[in-house]
Amino acid sequence: MKPALIISACLLGNPCRYDGKSVKKIDVSELSEKYRLIPVCPEVDGGLPTPRTPSERIGEKVLMRDGRDVTENYRRGAEKTLEAALLSGAKAALLKSRSPSCGKGKIYDGSFSGALTDRDGVTAELLLSHGIDVYGEEELSKLL
Ligand code: SF4
Repeated sequence: MKPALIISACLLGNPCRYDGKSVKKIDVSELSEKYRLIPVCPEVDGGLPTPRTPSERIGEKVLMRDGRDVTENYRRGAEKTLEAALLSGAKAALLKSRSPSCGKGKIYDGSFSGALTDRDGVTAELLLSHGIDVYGEEELSKLL
C-alpha cells in the first residue's frame, strides 16, 4: 500500500479558505502516484465556518481580525489533523504556506498587515512536535 500523506485540502482546490475561495490548485498527479493523499482543513475541522473572518497568531493565542479569540478552534483542528496522521500512519504533511494553521516556518505576524514572521502555524507546529515532517507547498518536489 502507498504511504499516507496529509495535505491541506485547499491545495487540492477545496474552497475551504477563510474567504470561501479556492487557492490555485497544485498539480498532485505525481504525488498521488506515490502517496495516499489524506486531505485536512484544520480550521474547518476545528469548528470554524467558511467563509470566516481571517485570523492570525498573536503570542499564544489566535485572534480574528475583529478580536474574537479562536485559539480553541485552532487547537482542536490541529489535534484532529494529528489524529488523522496517526490513524493513517502518515509520516509527512504537505501544507499551505503562511496560514496561521498550516504555515511552516513563516506565517503572518499578527498585525493583519500582510507582514510575515518566523513561526509555524498551530497545526504545523503540533505535527512537527510529534515527529511528522512538514513541507510547505513550494517544497512539493522534495516529496517526489
Ligand atoms: Fe487551507 Fe489549512 Fe487554511 Fe484549511 S486551514 S484553508 S487547509 S490553509
